[in-house]
Amino acid sequence: MQRFLILLILTLLSFGMTGQSESTDQDAFFLKDIYTQSLSKSKAYHWLDTLCRTAGPRLSGSQASYDGLAYLEAVLSDMAFDTIFHVDCMVPRWHRGSHTLDLEHKGKAIPTRSTMLGNSLGTGGSLVTGDIIEVLELDSLAGMADQLKDKVVFFNRPMDPSLVRTFHAYGRAVDQRVFGPSRAGKYGAKAVIVRSMASQIDTIPHTGVTVYEEDAIAKIPGIAISTYDAEVLSDYLDNGSVQATISSTSTPLPDTSSYSIVAEIKGSEYPDEIILVGGHIDSWDIGQGAHDDGAGCVQSIQVIETLLALDYKPKRTIRCVLFINEENGLNGGKSYAEYSNANGEYHLAAIESDAGGFTPRGFSCTADEAVFIDKLRNLKTFEPLLEPYDLYLKKGGAGADINPLKSQNGLLIGLNPDSQRYFDYHHTAEDKIEHVHPRELLLGGAAMTSLVYLIDQHGL
Ligand SMILES: [Zn+2]
Repeated sequence: MQRFLILLILTLLSFGMTGQSESTDQDAFFLKDIYTQSLSKSKAYHWLDTLCRTAGPRLSGSQASYDGLAYLEAVLSDMAFDTIFHVDCMVPRWHRGSHTLDLEHKGKAIPTRSTMLGNSLGTGGSLVTGDIIEVLELDSLAGMADQLKDKVVFFNRPMDPSLVRTFHAYGRAVDQRVFGPSRAGKYGAKAVIVRSMASQIDTIPHTGVTVYEEDAIAKIPGIAISTYDAEVLSDYLDNGSVQATISSTSTPLPDTSSYSIVAEIKGSEYPDEIILVGGHIDSWDIGQGAHDDGAGCVQSIQVIETLLALDYKPKRTIRCVLFINEENGLNGGKSYAEYSNANGEYHLAAIESDAGGFTPRGFSCTADEAVFIDKLRNLKTFEPLLEPYDLYLKKGGAGADINPLKSQNGLLIGLNPDSQRYFDYHHTAEDKIEHVHPRELLLGGAAMTSLVYLIDQHGL
């Protein structure tokens, strides 16, 4: 009786009084079963808790990254996969070391909370001193060339708070962190301070990758300060000069070998059409990588856990992929695509979760222009079945690790959770298990499972 009522409600919500078909009824029932199983029995939060507490921060090439890989492979090995294998790749390694940042205005010390940018060079432990000059745009540097020599350049353009989707604000501000040290070094600056990529004013510094471009003349250190400290520093600069003194033992280390993990269930009818679910197992070294991206890894495993618990036999090949080295190189995503292309594979769909373990809102997708309109139209036919779970389907970004698969002409899909709190934790010491809500995490995995099921049943 209860099942009948659920079916009735779901189908009425989705299609009005008409349009019910037998397969739609089956799909609606199965999606309900996915959510029931996920929300009452999934172990995904337990896996994430164990990963965060036992492996901890998992920077590529670190012992913790191998510990994390080994733990999640053990979790996968307890499930009925047909095969589990590694795709090897080389990864860069980086040692954060220790650093100091002292700011002084008219003989008075200004306290700051700071962290070295990932992949930054240090000062070899010696002190580097310079007057701070505030800059808002990378493009402004050329016009200020004669003012930058021996200075410490302070990039202070905030993430735009008027943008509702915080990833858009991040995308428009992060050039300062990624290219700031490389570009300022060309004009003789001694070091760079970057305003943290955060959505709000707080005292938490955010690390993240900085890149020294090939034509970088001088590789100078980059440090992030919290948004609160950036506001304070900017106020002091309005009233006179501020001197920075920096020391850092950060240093790159030789590349080393690592791997991504692939676990596969062969499809019974269309084994050559692969549906991938994945996240990246590496993280920055100052938090536990709970939201970024332990959450995406355990949600991807939850997809398989749920389908197996429901005794589902996929028509298409389903792969769970845990990528290494998203944060500072993307060598896991690149090497996986190379492996896949070399084997003539076709990913019909790849779904990545790498935007935090928050309440899912829907999915955004992209593909090669040649196939995108048709694939999106086909995907959109699932919308009425997902609508009861408050999930949309739209055009947009998918995921850094799966992007290299675009040339296979399948659909690349990203899980879109609520983004409002993501940049409170992203790349910080606060990205830890205490900030992941178990139910929100499981809802994300259930959303991914639902989409995998629908694509497996109906294709694209
Ligand atoms: Zn990530």
